[in-house]
Amino acid sequence: MVLVFFGNIFVKAHLTSMGKRVFVGISIIMMTSIYAVSSSHSPSLEKQISNSPRDQYSLPEDLLVEISSCVAASSLSEISNLRLVSKSFKRISNDRYVLRRLSLNEIPLFPWFRNRGKFHNFIKRCRKNGNPEAIYRKGLVDYFHRNSSKRQRDKGLKHIAKVANKGNQEAQYVYGLILICLGGETKQKGFKILSSLRKPLMSSTLEEMEKHRKKIRNEMWWCGEPMMRHLKRRYVRVNCNCDGRTDIFFVKNSGWDRYGEHNDMITCSACEICLWHHEVKLFFANIEE
Ligand SMILES: [Zn+2]
Repeated sequence: MVLVFFGNIFVKAHLTSMGKRVFVGISIIMMTSIYAVSSSHSPSLEKQISNSPRDQYSLPEDLLVEISSCVAASSLSEISNLRLVSKSFKRISNDRYVLRRLSLNEIPLFPWFRNRGKFHNFIKRCRKNGNPEAIYRKGLVDYFHRNSSKRQRDKGLKHIAKVANKGNQEAQYVYGLILICLGGETKQKGFKILSSLRKPLMSSTLEEMEKHRKKIRNEMWWCGEPMMRHLKRRYVRVNCNCDGRTDIFFVKNSGWDRYGEHNDMITCSACEICLWHHEVKLFFANIEE
């Protein structure tokens, strides 16, 4: 049996300012692949799609879930709009698969809006359904929060590690830094994880690090400073025998006119120990020992 799979599905739901008219455009851009699927799928599925491609109410459940999950992976606000489109979309937005793929990127770790209890329950539901961003958030807060117990910190680090191992780059960044600060056997593992985040050019590598660093520090500073101080104290720089070119690069690019055509550097030619030492210094800048 063959199911036609819609590879690039674009869905946009827009609520007008009057709040009375909902415009929905569902553009199925192209059918890219044909997949063989198990016999558990209904043989009428393909027929349903081809008979009524523009009627979202008659779209099969599998396709509604696929559309919702694509929208969810894009942003939370888009899925919130999609929930207004129909009862079907509202129901399906709570599907396990949709919650697992939901992007939480635009939500701060500690939102200040009113209904925080409801919000925390929602994030918890995402976590229970295996949403990696929700698991990472829980791990980050439990690991860094000043009121966390040792058990919570250990569990928090496991959460961060779990998501880092699945390829989440922000989790890889903070997990790698923690490991090289803790030292001992974990140090080399930390270097290896951080190495996977490198970009071909130093300018883009440093910009990527800056993005993660700013986000984590801005959100965790107020409650995570004691733990950051602890990590800073634990950190011991590994000696290197490089020619110093990497440090010279950082000095040259510390001003306004950074990463010019003549100032950039190929990342693989840089000393990794100097590179990550530089990042550790920036991450713990302004934190008293
Ligand atoms: Zn070096």
